[in-house]
Amino acid sequence: MLVNALSVDVEEYYHAAIFRHGTRTLVGRHFGSRVEQSVERLLTLLRDHHTHATFFTLGEVAAAHPAVVRAIAKEGHEVACHGDRHEDVDRQTPSEFRADVRRAKARLEDLSGESVIGYRAPNFSIGRAQSWAYEILLEEGFRYDSSLYPILHDRYGQPGAPRFPYEIWRNWSDRLLEFPISTARLLGVNLPIGGGGYFRLAPFGLIRLGIQRVNVRERQPVMFYLHPWELDPDQPRPPMAWHHRFRLYVGIGKEVVKVSRLLAQFRFGTARDVLRLGGRREATTRDLGRSGLGRSV
Ligand SMILES: [Zn+2]
Repeated sequence: MLVNALSVDVEEYYHAAIFRHGTRTLVGRHFGSRVEQSVERLLTLLRDHHTHATFFTLGEVAAAHPAVVRAIAKEGHEVACHGDRHEDVDRQTPSEFRADVRRAKARLEDLSGESVIGYRAPNFSIGRAQSWAYEILLEEGFRYDSSLYPILHDRYGQPGAPRFPYEIWRNWSDRLLEFPISTARLLGVNLPIGGGGYFRLAPFGLIRLGIQRVNVRERQPVMFYLHPWELDPDQPRPPMAWHHRFRLYVGIGKEVVKVSRLLAQFRFGTARDVLRLGGRREATTRDLGRSGLGRSV
């Protein structure tokens, strides 16, 4: 069975763009941290399913909760970078972006004791106008990016972009791979099957069919993502407009069960292993033989 990539964006519930948008009138309101218990819940779930994942971790979270990063690394997962302050890339200058990823990467490497080679932008915010970011990532020692979502969406997404891992940038000595969030192609449209709110909203059977289609028919690995707060039904729910509430909280009570089913029915590993980028936990020969990556990488 082909190995897919499982990724977790390690951040607080209040980092979510919809949460920030929905609560922007509640100026000065303090929201308590939930990241330690929600990551712990996820680590237990992954342990139960003998599965490793890539944790794109926010530098700000690592600074406030170093034990979280140490626990992720200790369990053999890949520690990757989600930027430092959850600032969208399209709102930063190139030099601000470089400083942000450099700070976060150094912090994560200190805590995990491993090199950090993967990056995911907050809110998939590397658009066509921000392709300068790829060159900076390469110069800062990253080997792959996973910030591209080839769908139509109101806030992000590039529906015409490639759907599978490919080389997105190259300089004289190195290359940066892109591992897009997964979509299933149906009737000329890219359907989101790679996690997040769509996974909570859609029936499990539909997502399963989509992943099977990518794995079996297209012989490609899937990139799936989730957030620790999506498995935390007890998080604070401040008042906000109904459409924000819906997008944030739909399916949150059933997420643990749904993710368990996903882990039981498909094989998952770290992005680093699926892309065969080596590292401390080298992919086994058996994994490589089964990963079925196309020639695009
Ligand atoms: Zn995020």
